[in-house]
Amino acid sequence: MRGAADAVALPGSTQDVARVVGWCYAHDVAIVPRGGGTGFAGGAVPLDGGVVLGLERMTAVRELEPLLWRMCLEAGVRTSEVRRMARENGLFFPPDPGAAEQSQIGGNIATNAGGPHAFKYGVTGAWVTGIEAVVPPGEVIGVGGAIRKDVAGYDMKSLLIGSEGTLGVITAAWLRLLPAPEVFLPVVAFHRDSRAGCAAIERVLGSGLVPAALEYLDGGALAAAGAAFPGGVADGAGFMVLTEADGSAAEAERLQGELAEALSEDALAVHTPSSPREVDELWRWRDGVSLAVSALRGEKVSEDIVVPIDRLREAIDETLAIGARHELEACSWGHAGDGNLHSSFLVAPDDAAGMARARSAAEELFELAVRLGGSVSGEHGIGWVKRGGLARQQSQHARALHEEIKRAFDPKGLMNPGKKTPA
Ligand SMILES: Cc1cc2nc3c(=O)[nH]c(=O)nc-3n(C[C@H](O)[C@H](O)[C@H](O)COP(=O)(O)OP(=O)(O)OC[C@H]3O[C@@H](n4cnc5c(N)ncnc54)[C@H](O)[C@@H]3O)c2cc1C
Repeated sequence: MRGAADAVALPGSTQDVARVVGWCYAHDVAIVPRGGGTGFAGGAVPLDGGVVLGLERMTAVRELEPLLWRMCLEAGVRTSEVRRMARENGLFFPPDPGAAEQSQIGGNIATNAGGPHAFKYGVTGAWVTGIEAVVPPGEVIGVGGAIRKDVAGYDMKSLLIGSEGTLGVITAAWLRLLPAPEVFLPVVAFHRDSRAGCAAIERVLGSGLVPAALEYLDGGALAAAGAAFPGGVADGAGFMVLTEADGSAAEAERLQGELAEALSEDALAVHTPSSPREVDELWRWRDGVSLAVSALRGEKVSEDIVVPIDRLREAIDETLAIGARHELEACSWGHAGDGNLHSSFLVAPDDAAGMARARSAAEELFELAVRLGGSVSGEHGIGWVKRGGLARQQSQHARALHEEIKRAFDPKGLMNPGKKTPA
């Protein structure tokens, strides 16, 4: 996606943001908030001019209270920094979306980003106790704060979480943290196919084990990324399950062993990395899977549908069938424990006909997600790319309520127009 802004504003404070939003609102100019620009739904791209409001200069840490397990940060702090600051203080900020070196905490909140560890710990919104935002026509509001509970009003915090810049500009957030687990011990299992792999995933859940992450790669994703896999891919593998135990050393070791046992039935091989270096290498490799798949043909159309966990195998197999019907190479990987797939159709950048077929394939994928009782987006949001997607899964009345909420915040429709909401 490409777009051109009429101007870019890089405010240094909440008051600056309020002035920019106030000026734009008074002059009927669209405002497109932008964090790290890593979003997959085109939400931060200015489609039709307007002012792109970048948060990258707003990086202040307003408060860090390790003994109270909380921090308050400005929106432009990068996700990896949030995690680093927590770690250096003996704490843990669990959300770990894959582009953490570049994405910002404001962007993570605006998309309610997930990541591998959302399986045990929940998505970004679960860790936000308060938000400061600038809403039209340029007013600063605060919802929640350094409090862990708040049921005084409607849940405006949750409305802003995942709102993709269409209701206001998030300028700062209160985050809650956890004492850091002592160790992280992954288990990687290779299976012959999706049948054996998904059965192993269900065995993990059925055994009552609680891994921190429960991920998968199908055969195509494994073929794309496998060459760089630390430790080597088992011969004949057409499916990988990646899971992780965390906690105190004793707890995590016990859980790692139990996970390995649950996954080993029918497995071709099971790896249990244990040194911090091996664990880091493994997750760095996992972060690169999306780019490795893109590199196969130069481009991909990749969608983040989510389905109930018992329909995961059907969605994985159907992704391949849809690709075949459209004469496209397809594969998927993702957050198995959350039923969240990254179903991808591979195309060359200069193949316009292939791109058109990939778009049609994506439409079928959305239909599939809804038919299986899921959603068109598990974590990347609607943005511009999936505009209209809500109509597939929500009633007319529910969508009308969405539009009313949008109007209540943004009566002139200038906040990130064309994105997220049906109108
Ligand atoms: C390699 C790779 C791996 C990824 N893995 C994951 C993953 O595991 N899980 C996941 O959920 N996502 C993942 N993503 C997608 C992306 O990283 C997340 O959506 C991330 O949260 C976007 O943050 P950002 O700061 O880059 O936001 P941007 O891309 O800049 O913006 C995203 C949306 O949020 C709005 N926005 C940004 N900042 C603000 C703000 N301060 N106030 C109001 N609105 C704002 C924008 O207008 C836009 O609509 C991945 C992306 C890449 C490239």
